[in-house]
Amino acid sequence: MKSFDLVLKGGTIVTPDRARPGDIGISDGRIAAVGLPGTLGNAAHVEDVSGLHLLPGLVDPHVHFRDPGYTYKEDWQSGSAAAAMGGVTTGLDMPNTDPAPATAQAFAAKRAIAEAASHVDFGLYGLLDETSLPHLSALVDEGAAAFKCFMCDTTGDLPSPSDGAILEAFEILAPLGIRTTVHAENASILEYRARRLKQAGRTDAHAHLAARPDVAAVEATHRAISFAEWAGARLHIAHESCAASLPVIRAAKARGVEVTAETCPHYLFFDESDLERQGGHLRINPPIRRRHDAEALWLALRDGTIDLLATDHAPHAPEEKQGEAIWDVARGIVGVETQMRVMLAAVADGRLALCDYVRLASEAPARAFGLYPRKGSLAPGADADIVAVDLSWRGAIDAAMLHSKHAFSAWHGHPAAGRVVDVYLRGQRIVAEGALVGRPGTGRMIRPEMPAPAPRNVDLTLEAETKRASL
Ligand SMILES: [Zn+2]
Repeated sequence: MKSFDLVLKGGTIVTPDRARPGDIGISDGRIAAVGLPGTLGNAAHVEDVSGLHLLPGLVDPHVHFRDPGYTYKEDWQSGSAAAAMGGVTTGLDMPNTDPAPATAQAFAAKRAIAEAASHVDFGLYGLLDETSLPHLSALVDEGAAAFKCFMCDTTGDLPSPSDGAILEAFEILAPLGIRTTVHAENASILEYRARRLKQAGRTDAHAHLAARPDVAAVEATHRAISFAEWAGARLHIAHESCAASLPVIRAAKARGVEVTAETCPHYLFFDESDLERQGGHLRINPPIRRRHDAEALWLALRDGTIDLLATDHAPHAPEEKQGEAIWDVARGIVGVETQMRVMLAAVADGRLALCDYVRLASEAPARAFGLYPRKGSLAPGADADIVAVDLSWRGAIDAAMLHSKHAFSAWHGHPAAGRVVDVYLRGQRIVAEGALVGRPGTGRMIRPEMPAPAPRNVDLTLEAETKRASL
């Protein structure tokens, strides 16, 4: 019989298809075998996980660890510690850091910082802006997980690219197969309305939503999809918050556009009625919208219009989340450590099946970003990224227990379920009995692997047309 480095014995293995009792054999950091209870044989070490559920480590494709540049808000060590404690074993970090990874050099520097400090595996976004187009293929060579395009203003004040630059970027990225994630809101509408609302004296929390009406999201989603469809590029819609955008995404998928979409727990659980109590703590881009939006997002998770869950973990210093006027409050909410527990509360309430949760939070993000089946899977050959959860635990989120530098959580007091007991990263235990035991620098950068789809309209790209001029 084969011998393993480690066997996790007596747990319930949860995959997108089923939850059933079984043992997992781990060797050389990978899952070597999955078997019925008691069938795996010898191991150097056996861990009894009776009573616990074993989930594939979560893949969070949208975190802001703020490092380099804004380490007073968060850094790789604190952000990745929060991730590990939340069962997130792979995080994809957004590029609105300073310097932004818009060149191969800046990307390599950021990678070195992350490798020295991260508790979990990670991917790094490259920045798609007006100036980064000449660097896109070098960033792919460096191992960029995906590209981020901010179609409107963002934390870090990175200027959003013109439509022309976005289209050309999609033409460049289509044959490389790599996905571009867009923050889809119309910059012109947002700037205009914020200015008019300020002139009218609006300073209340609801004014943030008033400045970012649904149509601004619908239009930008439609525009990004049009460009991606034209070029044959892969697209991802970040932090979907809006019922009115869903038919746009649904129709694009039906036409065969390679578009995926995420939503975040804060859009599922909060609505504008929470603004009274939480105020600036719920100032988030895109905004928390209305109850019917949240209900539509739940349905979209079930019907596949929305593919996956992300947290958009976006920490700030406490004083930045306060202000006389809503306009003075920094935009963002923390969530990488609480996502699993608030979603498992919905599972406990019968709102979501446990298997579907595993698909939405682990397998689907790994697939969308070319990390599957190395990540997001408990099948033999996958990295042994495993979360052992005690599903009998029910309680509430306690902000004082969280590991982000962002000390306040809008989730404080929110119903929670499922205690994260142990977390394994490539077979190494990084959380043991609910305590962080891994070392900073354990995490590694993961590169995407995705065959490119066939690019479209290749004879009409800007590159093809400029070459034609010189003939
Ligand atoms: Zn974000």
